[in-house]
Amino acid sequence: MKKTAAALLLCLGLTACSPIEEGAVPAGGDIETSSSSVSENTTEPETTEGTTETTTENIIAETTAESETTAEEVTTETESVISETASETVIDTENRPESITLSTYEIQLTVGEKKMPIVTMLPADCPDKSEIWESDDTAVARVDGYGNITGISEGSCTVTVTAAANKSVSASVKVTVTAPPQTHGEPTYIDGILIANKTYALPEDYNPGVQPEAEAAFKEMQSAAWNEGLNIWIASGFRSYEYQSGLYQRYVNRSGKEEADRYSARPGHSEHQTGLAFDLNSIDDSFADTAEGKWVAEHCHEYGFIIRYPKGKEDITGYIYEPWHIRYLGKETAEKVFNSGLTLEEYLGITSVYAE
Ligand SMILES: [Zn+2]
Repeated sequence: MKKTAAALLLCLGLTACSPIEEGAVPAGGDIETSSSSVSENTTEPETTEGTTETTTENIIAETTAESETTAEEVTTETESVISETASETVIDTENRPESITLSTYEIQLTVGEKKMPIVTMLPADCPDKSEIWESDDTAVARVDGYGNITGISEGSCTVTVTAAANKSVSASVKVTVTAPPQTHGEPTYIDGILIANKTYALPEDYNPGVQPEAEAAFKEMQSAAWNEGLNIWIASGFRSYEYQSGLYQRYVNRSGKEEADRYSARPGHSEHQTGLAFDLNSIDDSFADTAEGKWVAEHCHEYGFIIRYPKGKEDITGYIYEPWHIRYLGKETAEKVFNSGLTLEEYLGITSVYAE
């Protein structure tokens, strides 16, 4: 019932689903706090190898001291020490990586931004310099096998690189991720896809209008549907930041902020501001059960669209099921996302959560 109510509100409000951001989400304060907390732990390129060396030296030193007593005993002991060491290590110790240093131990990213520290693994001639990269909080930052670190959402985490050939050798980078620019600057692209959701805002002055390629794709889809006796039309297309501000405020006045956030975007966070999203026909849950709604769900990916807010995915997309809201991604990407069975957020490994 809530959904239906929300949908009705949408209709009343001249088409409304979608995300916006609130002109000024707490950008400044939070960010500064988190970045300053980072500078605490910095230089700590592992000391593991150092420890190992020391131990070995100690053994040798002890052996030497004893050698004053009995020459024969010393020889035997030394041999046994060496053989033990060899059996423990098994691998050719001399050519294993002994240390890792990084070009930086602190990285600051905005959401969606990517940076890579440069790794130096010594000795320079060790044959296997493979790296294992890990993030201790992939909701904050992800890292690929090459050390490209991508900011996912606001927060701090640690990214560690370990030598595959000697797991006791590693180094860590403290990563701090701050919110993307809220009102100015550039929109966020992830893997080439323009993103507008609760995490990623569009600049206030981003005002592209309906994108011609999306419109052309819609017309192609519309005529294919028409040939099957179905009538689909765009009830709401491009919406500017300013328009969304008014729309969202009306919903907040009507149902409160918490409820409004489930179906309407704050200004800057609406996918309609990309010019790549359309609401079709009735903008109501009942659309899913119409012949048109079923056809769109089944075929829209063939024309480059996805159902952006699928059923049961509110926790991931940030929005209730909206069978009427489609997003243009281009045919190739839409096919991939459709076949993956994932939401766009899952497909890209990103979040959709207001910073607040
Ligand atoms: Zn919509």
